[in-house]
Amino acid sequence: MDDLATALAAGGLYLDGRWCAAGDGGQAQIVEAATGAPLGTVARASRHDVDRAVAAARAAFDRGPWPHTPGRERARILHAIADLIEHQSAAFAELEARNLGVPLRKAMFVDVPMAVEHLRTFAELARLHPYEPLPWTDMPSVSWNFVWREPIGVCAQILPWNYPLLMAVWKLAPALATGNTVILKPASATPLTALMLVSAIDRAALLPRGVLNLLTGPGVEIGEALAGHAGVDKVSFTGSTAVGRRIMALASDTIKRVTLELGGKSPSLILPDADLDLAVDGVLFGVYFNGGQSCEAGTRCLVPREHYEAVIARLVRRVQALTVGDPLDLATDIGPLVSASQAATVERYIANGLAEGARLVAGGGRIAVPGCAAGAFIAPTIFADVHNQMTIAREEIFGPVLAVMPYDSISEAIEIANASPYGLGAAVWSRDIQAAIEVARRIRAGTVWINDHHLIVPHAPFGGYKQSGLGREHGLQGMLAYTETKHIHVDLFQRRQGRIWWDVLLPPEDGA
Ligand code: NAD
Ligand code: MN
Repeated sequence: MDDLATALAAGGLYLDGRWCAAGDGGQAQIVEAATGAPLGTVARASRHDVDRAVAAARAAFDRGPWPHTPGRERARILHAIADLIEHQSAAFAELEARNLGVPLRKAMFVDVPMAVEHLRTFAELARLHPYEPLPWTDMPSVSWNFVWREPIGVCAQILPWNYPLLMAVWKLAPALATGNTVILKPASATPLTALMLVSAIDRAALLPRGVLNLLTGPGVEIGEALAGHAGVDKVSFTGSTAVGRRIMALASDTIKRVTLELGGKSPSLILPDADLDLAVDGVLFGVYFNGGQSCEAGTRCLVPREHYEAVIARLVRRVQALTVGDPLDLATDIGPLVSASQAATVERYIANGLAEGARLVAGGGRIAVPGCAAGAFIAPTIFADVHNQMTIAREEIFGPVLAVMPYDSISEAIEIANASPYGLGAAVWSRDIQAAIEVARRIRAGTVWINDHHLIVPHAPFGGYKQSGLGREHGLQGMLAYTETKHIHVDLFQRRQGRIWWDVLLPPEDGA
């Protein structure tokens, strides 16, 4: 049996190093996004299962070897997990394409290799002992001071549906690299590649039991139970800003560490001197990659007034090159959205754009794809003449919808770019790198790409300003976000004379 089938047949929840069913026997059917065909029956966990998962992760952290395992050993294990994905890369890519509906080509070239690369990067980081130099201290007496990094403890990791395998790896790699124990909660509709990964890790017996636990089930019930659980030390969440706010509130009870990667409304800012052919292709990549279901998608395109109609005409022409279709067809660029309800949300936004007076210049609705009757396909949609106050310019749509607006000066463009409750990413298109860097520095966002988009690389910190999130993932910052900082002070003097004790508390003995 393959890894996924093994996991599902054995109950679908992975707790304390064993597969089991939900305590109340709950199950949920997972379907293929494009066809609606059943892909498997997973467990539907409840609060009781959350308690079981926390107990297992707690015991593995408090009494198990894992937090004290040397970094080089954790590095070896992360490389071994990367090998597991690499050895089954075609199967992971196909399962991702079926469950989520993303094009197989994209799963093969992005999701799977990036997951491998991410694990290998954190394997390297696991071997580092992040050094933080402290100044020499001789006041009040000579001491040696150093910083030690320790794992935080039990980490609940709540995943969105838009990059199921990659998100699982983004969360697991830094947590495991630093010696934490984990409870992974995939999104309700797209748990299968994470299940397959956990099953492969289990089969290879790479981790002590309880270090990695997996719960599938409804976010409202088990996500909230994890975020509020007294036995959980950290919550890392990727998803909507509304749920992020709720998680932060629940986590406040026990002052949990929280990392939030939330929504976005990222601008693609074309400067007047840009290579317009390059910029237009880049803007299309920025917004339609992954069918528009990316938090960092470039959904607002700001165009200098003198190039406005030319850019719109070129966007409209180049968007025709995109093929919407069956995700398993290698010619497909855009598959269906994850679900009918997500597509209904996107359609509401399109209707709203029309009602608020934006000019529809491409797409605008559903597309039927032969053989994929159940799939919710939406044509890549472009609105021109958008004002930044319109709903489609303010709210995250999470579908293939671009809002194009003109600007008259660079400072106006920066003002529009920053007039958003979000601040996740931005792209600047220009031949003048100096000018582009100046603009990049004035944009309030966690990542600015100059002449590119979406390049979230394992070594670079990623996260949001404002309501796009809290904290950073990836790179050294992302790894340190899974550690507590301990200062250790070593007195080197070892004599009673000259102690601060004498001045503030304890008088010296006679003759001292
Ligand atoms: P969501 O925020 O509702 O769900 C994300 C994860 O949180 C899922 O695992 C879900 O089960 C869980 N969850 C849901 N409610 C919860 C709660 N009350 N407490 C704890 N966990 C909970 O996102 P969604 O419903 O999948 O998508 C809705 C919108 O979120 C999208 O339209 C998009 O705007 C945004 N989104 C953003 C990202 C991102 O990468 N930042 C990813 C997916 C979705
Ligand atoms: Mn094509």
